[in-house]
Amino acid sequence: MLVDKVQEVFNEPGCATNQDKSAKERKKGCTKSLKPGAAAGGCAFDGAKIALQPIADAAHLVHGPIACEGNSWDNRGSKSSHSQLYRTGFTTDLSELDVIHGAEKKLFKAIKEIVLKYDPPAVFVYQTCVPALIGDDIEAVCKFAADKLGKPIIPVNAPGFVGSKNLGNKLGGETLLDHVIGTREPEYTTPYDINIIGEYNLAGEFWQVKPLLDKMGVRILSMISGDGKYNEVASAHRAKVNMLVCSQALVNVARKMEERYGIPYFEGSFYGVSDMSDTLRNIAKLLVGRGAPNDLIARTETIITEEEARAWRRLAPYKDRLTGKRVLLFTGGVKSWSMVTALEGAGLEIIGTSVKKSTKEDKERLKKIKGEEFHMWEDLKPRDIAAMLRDAKADIMLSGGRSQFIALKAKVPWLDVNQERHVAFAGYEGIVALVEEIDKTLSNPIWRQVRLPAPWDAPAPALGETAAE
Ligand code: SF4
Repeated sequence: MLVDKVQEVFNEPGCATNQDKSAKERKKGCTKSLKPGAAAGGCAFDGAKIALQPIADAAHLVHGPIACEGNSWDNRGSKSSHSQLYRTGFTTDLSELDVIHGAEKKLFKAIKEIVLKYDPPAVFVYQTCVPALIGDDIEAVCKFAADKLGKPIIPVNAPGFVGSKNLGNKLGGETLLDHVIGTREPEYTTPYDINIIGEYNLAGEFWQVKPLLDKMGVRILSMISGDGKYNEVASAHRAKVNMLVCSQALVNVARKMEERYGIPYFEGSFYGVSDMSDTLRNIAKLLVGRGAPNDLIARTETIITEEEARAWRRLAPYKDRLTGKRVLLFTGGVKSWSMVTALEGAGLEIIGTSVKKSTKEDKERLKKIKGEEFHMWEDLKPRDIAAMLRDAKADIMLSGGRSQFIALKAKVPWLDVNQERHVAFAGYEGIVALVEEIDKTLSNPIWRQVRLPAPWDAPAPALGETAAE
């Protein structure tokens, strides 16, 4: 039942909010109830699709009115090194007549058409508000279609009205646990097999990290889900270690895989020099703990020493240009702390960061790096950000696309560091790219131009003078 599944996700013991509770409160479960507007900024369906659509060789079929697919199609710049099928928008495009008569037959026909035309390894079928309200049973249709067509047809039961985008991410993860992970065996296994969970390969940034893992001899058994392949995700239960990149989104997947298959997991970050190194160390340590040869640790340390020296060498030329420049970091999650050390290493001064989307651990880590006095904003209002920028407290704002207009209105340089960005910022390569982008943004001549008074605001010429004089 969807209701039970939603409650189970709310009660997830690995979730930061639940970890903060006492044992007694935890026992009561999470009584958080949904309020109107909970889906503003992305509904549960959108969240589930964000989590699963990067499985690139599968077809993703949205059962609903066309606007649901329109809203969610390609809304993240998740890149694939193999199939491009995930970028085709499939939808049943429900009409008023379907609402009256039901659309289960239409859904089966759509699944059949996709299988016959594209022959994907699997089809994910997303439930949305309208068919959920009229009572279309997508689980029954998917089961029927899977039997008829001989393919995995996976129901993703996360209609928009059940809650927020983040809840949808987790429901997407539950879909993988219930229907995908553990359904296939890998062709072979090695002592170096890991899964990466909660990484979406935005702007292709995982490709900045993969060469390092290749150098260590670590094999990615499955990506969940950026640049993912369906059959690899299905055999993810044979990995030795799970790395969780965005704990907010898919902590339930990592925790339940530990519970079901005994795969230990750790949360790591690919952002910033020292965090990238810590991540490589953790992977090596956990793999050795699970039977990989001991020399992996020494090999990893050699790679870290070489890569760190190279990264700092490449960052050095920016130091003179950027020293003393003040940055307002308006992002969330791991980036709220993991970018701080690297940016400071390049001479930048961080005046504060938002922690609205950060977990308790993220905040603790930030305090450890910057001390108790550091500005951490839980809920900074747009007008406060604008005032801060106007009062010249920051030379540049790093944030997501949604807050860009606050910076642009205050005529302050702005750089996109969130999911819509086009430049990859992961690994040692990525931090050099980030500092280079900051430098380019700060020195862009457009800022001088936009700060000049508009011609119609300039003082009127004196009598007898022409405007040119
Ligand atoms: S699933 Fe519901 S809330 Fe989400 S886009 Fe479709 S209609 Fe809107």
